[in-house]
Amino acid sequence: MSDKDKATDRRDFLQAGFLGTAGVGLAVASTTSVTMAESDPASQTPELTNEVDVLVVGGGTAGHVAAIQAGRAGASTLLVERNSQLGGTTTTGGVSFPGLFDAWGRQVIAGIGWELVKESVEMDEGTLPDFAKVPERHWHNQVYTNQFLYALLAEEKCIEAGVEIAYYEFPQAARKTEDGWEVDCVGFGTRRKVRCKQIVDCTGGAEVVGMLGFPRLREDERQPGSFLFMMGKEHQPGRNQIHRLYVHGADSTNSRTATRANLTGRKSILEKLRKEKKRLMHLQPETGFRESYRIEGETIITVNDYTSGRHFEDAISNAFYPVDLHTKTGVKPKPLKPGTVPTIPLRALIPKGSTNIIVAGRCVSSDRLANSGLRVQASCMGMGQAAGTAAALAAKSGTTPLSVPLPEIHEVLREHGQIIPGQA
Ligand SMILES: Cc1cc2nc3c(=O)[nH]c(=O)nc-3n(C[C@H](O)[C@H](O)[C@H](O)COP(=O)(O)OP(=O)(O)OC[C@H]3O[C@@H](n4cnc5c(N)ncnc54)[C@H](O)[C@@H]3O)c2cc1C
Repeated sequence: MSDKDKATDRRDFLQAGFLGTAGVGLAVASTTSVTMAESDPASQTPELTNEVDVLVVGGGTAGHVAAIQAGRAGASTLLVERNSQLGGTTTTGGVSFPGLFDAWGRQVIAGIGWELVKESVEMDEGTLPDFAKVPERHWHNQVYTNQFLYALLAEEKCIEAGVEIAYYEFPQAARKTEDGWEVDCVGFGTRRKVRCKQIVDCTGGAEVVGMLGFPRLREDERQPGSFLFMMGKEHQPGRNQIHRLYVHGADSTNSRTATRANLTGRKSILEKLRKEKKRLMHLQPETGFRESYRIEGETIITVNDYTSGRHFEDAISNAFYPVDLHTKTGVKPKPLKPGTVPTIPLRALIPKGSTNIIVAGRCVSSDRLANSGLRVQASCMGMGQAAGTAAALAAKSGTTPLSVPLPEIHEVLREHGQIIPGQA
């Protein structure tokens, strides 16, 4: 039999198989197709070099916003993400319930994060909260968001902003250069050298900051992680939250500790399914980690700063959420006093003693209780936009983020739809 005949036989077999299945009444998924643009022959080689203004590491809740902002502000930007999609805890972790963009009857965080949330809810025909109403419970104004749609839109906006995305990669080493950094990134089949002026560390646990040897803070006991799944009834993304299994001891420090958290979570879900004899309808691919390393920044936001709504003189973003510490006995959120809107200073995003690196997200320099409120998604998105702005401006003027005049940061943030603390 010739190769051509064999191929024809196989096609006939597959077609017969599909028709046979349809014939007995089972639904057949439809197939559509897309053809990729001709790939650059250079993409086949394992080694490459990039020269960019801004390298964003981690494309999660804060990172994709930072990258979009840096790109929109005119900086050449590379986004390195070790997973295969954007959004981090908001998408891959399955926590598609961002909050809080509002406080006491008005919006306090907007900008790129809000643009994405709003667009994904509207496209999904979901419901946006009415921020003019002060809700009875804080979470009533969190936004049910379709995680899959959100990841698609985040990617689209990165591409539109000129951001180059490198999935499946992470930094392995970094060296200081005269005007920034040289960072070695690796992925499967890829070794990438990145020469950049600024790094924005959005890895959640300040992994680049740790790799460079700057001080980080961490508790001996951390809040539990959670594995998200749905048993028994259909999961409707964008309409409800998924069941959560607390994984106590979950630790995102490295690939081994994260693997242990995933193995523990999945084993427990399997046991639950067998015990309750229910069907598994949805399972996220990995554990969501609430807490790991935070940076020790040029300032540390204390719980007193947070709960008193201290207006820092270098405030670059608002934040709003109850103090929300999960423990072995669950969580009892402590709401902020009426009228209180905490702020985030630029110095809390700068690793102490560093130049040309800034962070955004849950690793913000803060004590544990302040962090339990600051770590939520709207606040992380706000920090991401501020960090992307500071990094882009610093790259442009050949300085470090801390030396960029605050009015310039505010001006760019305002231009890109963000609300400036104290100016709403
Ligand atoms: C279970 C759970 C429930 C929560 N509930 C809510 C809620 O209802 N509402 C809310 O607003 N907030 C909630 N939060 C808090 C919030 O989701 C997170 O604190 C926030 O999303 C963290 O954002 P981030 O950008 O700092 O990190 P992440 O979103 O985790 O992003 C980090 C990204 O960096 C990537 N990365 C890590 N290391 C590297 C590396 N070395 N190289 C390259 N890439 C790397 C990761 O893959 C990831 O994409 C919850 C958190 C958890 C875990």
